[in-house]
Amino acid sequence: MIITKKKDRKQLLENVKGYKNFFLLGCSECATLCGTGGQEQLEELKQLLEAEGKAVTGAFVAKTGCQVLGTKVELKQFKEALAKTDCIIVMSCGAGTQSAVELFDDKAVYPSNDSMFLGNMTRLQMFDERCSLCGQCILDKTGGICPVTACPKGILNGPCGGTKDGHCEVSPDIPCAWVRIYDRMKKLNKVEEFKATTLDAKDWSASIKPRKLVAREEKK
Ligand code: SF4
Ligand code: SF4
Repeated sequence: MIITKKKDRKQLLENVKGYKNFFLLGCSECATLCGTGGQEQLEELKQLLEAEGKAVTGAFVAKTGCQVLGTKVELKQFKEALAKTDCIIVMSCGAGTQSAVELFDDKAVYPSNDSMFLGNMTRLQMFDERCSLCGQCILDKTGGICPVTACPKGILNGPCGGTKDGHCEVSPDIPCAWVRIYDRMKKLNKVEEFKATTLDAKDWSASIKPRKLVAREEKK
């Protein structure tokens, strides 16, 4: 999921100070789980804007904010409210914000959140970064633990010389990713395979932005 955190509200109010009529657009997926774009957060922002003398013409939690056409269909019911709106505040990730930009090219669109990383929710509203979207996954060779993300240096054949007592030299509060990988391979009885494997330098061209994928063509 895409991990988001709320922008400072003073900064958000400053960003939108030139507008009067707002529509709030949340997302029922990642942003709701992050507590940044669900019903409760929309209501909070609505109250904040109203307290500042602004009008909120409508508020809606889209099913999946980054799904452009689905969001377009869902927003049809708000045609009148949107016609009265001069600014849409999107309470999801940067992708959701840009769905709104694509759908409403004549209106101001502002994000209420900062998009942080692709992560896993490990406890209620606790998130860990687990994948850096490198475009060429090597989890099949590393026991399912990603060194590109879990090692601050992104070392592909570790550990580096700095690991101490199983901890990382860069961030001593976290375990060394390569010690974790070794321990996991040991548990899986794959130490010999692990020792014999040298990972090739990554082809970073797979992560040059902006990337595009037409999945329906991939299936042919
Ligand atoms: S190797 Fe690449 S795609 Fe696989 S988990 Fe790590 S960053 Fe993500
Ligand atoms: S100690 Fe381990 S996790 Fe930390 S930088 Fe070195 S190899 Fe990477």
